[in-house]
Amino acid sequence: MPELPETEVTKRDLEKEVVGRRIKDVEVRPGSNAMKVIKRHGRRKEFQDLLVGARVDRVDRIGRNLLLELDNEQVLVVNLGRTGCLTKTSASGELAAHTHVVIGFTIGGQLRMVDPKMSGEIYVAPKSEIHSDGKFRSFLIDPLDNQPIPWQEFSSQIEGRSGAIKALLLDEAFICGLGDIYSDEVLFSSGLRFDRSSDTLSSQDVRRLYRSLVETLQDAVRARGTTYGEGRWTDLQGNPGMFQLEFKVFEREGEPCRRCRSAIVRERYGNRSTYLCPQCQS
Ligand SMILES: [Zn+2]
Repeated sequence: MPELPETEVTKRDLEKEVVGRRIKDVEVRPGSNAMKVIKRHGRRKEFQDLLVGARVDRVDRIGRNLLLELDNEQVLVVNLGRTGCLTKTSASGELAAHTHVVIGFTIGGQLRMVDPKMSGEIYVAPKSEIHSDGKFRSFLIDPLDNQPIPWQEFSSQIEGRSGAIKALLLDEAFICGLGDIYSDEVLFSSGLRFDRSSDTLSSQDVRRLYRSLVETLQDAVRARGTTYGEGRWTDLQGNPGMFQLEFKVFEREGEPCRRCRSAIVRERYGNRSTYLCPQCQS
């Protein structure tokens, strides 16, 4: 947490709330924790100087990275990691615990980065570097892209791989931004067990998997993301997401399947848990 849908919700909020605003001041909070979040900058001043006076022109997302393009040829990059969250508040709003960076705008309001475990990151890099740097596009599929790869290509990618399908869904080089929650929900929706080997899938299975992948993540964005567990992600206004109310299997061990009423089970998968319906998934 947060996974891809939460990052997308934050991106859409930033488009509404931050584009067109000019940065008045930047505070990196005292202490070494804040420095971990801006670790690509050796000094607070370097980070601040690149931002103060710049206007946010547009917001983009590449995978789990949020890119705030500035009018000074720089980009403010935010990766929420496992526990990070951005909020937009008035300047007088009380500072939440674990706030590391506060960006104030000339017409009021502040963008704040909160991250209890410092697993996320915020930094400034030149626009030229961002667009030439392949690491931002290190995955094959972004299921929330307007045009994710055609399903035939998805299918040939799956055919060319072996191993448990859950591992493939969690593979950041294949699909960006899926963790335990969405991988389990996508697998339920496609009727596949987590340990099915990807080279045993029929073309109908692959088609269903592809459709479930796109639809589940779009449903999650529509529900304004998931607020659950570590980090307690919220949207820019501090509101929780609602998708956890729609979970079909994740963390529902012993509860009835919403489709067939069988009890949902939890199984070990490597060092993590995975949830499934033993009747609906094979
Ligand atoms: Zn079921």
